[in-house]
Amino acid sequence: MSPLYCEKFRIPKHLEIADGAVIPAPVGEQPMMKTGNWRTERPVIDHEKCTTCLNCFTYCPDGCWHLDAKSEKMVWNPIYCKGCRICVEVCPVDALTNENELNFKGGVARLDKPY
Ligand code: SF4
Ligand code: SF4
Repeated sequence: MSPLYCEKFRIPKHLEIADGAVIPAPVGEQPMMKTGNWRTERPVIDHEKCTTCLNCFTYCPDGCWHLDAKSEKMVWNPIYCKGCRICVEVCPVDALTNENELNFKGGVARLDKPY
């Protein structure tokens, strides 16, 4: 493969990657990138509807859902959830809905210094 160029920067041979890549899911939390303060809406779960199918766990790009072994309920991580709505879209039983951050007392939009 020929060297790749990004404007005037030459990408070293050992850092080249093919167009497109497979990224294992779920992607884990990134401590250096707390994306929760990007959020204007948050996913809210209805545990009565949730079947613990783990779709949200699998598809969340920030690893914000996990199944709590003790309660056997899905748990959401507000520090990293950026409100992208992917989990809401992939939930097969409509157990997740979007709600505006302004509806929550501790919502990102209401915090002086979110995270
Ligand atoms: S995708 Fe929906 S049903 Fe599946 S675990 Fe998540 S909230 Fe529950
Ligand atoms: S809204 Fe996006 S970042 Fe937040 S939990 Fe759902 S999939 Fe993850």
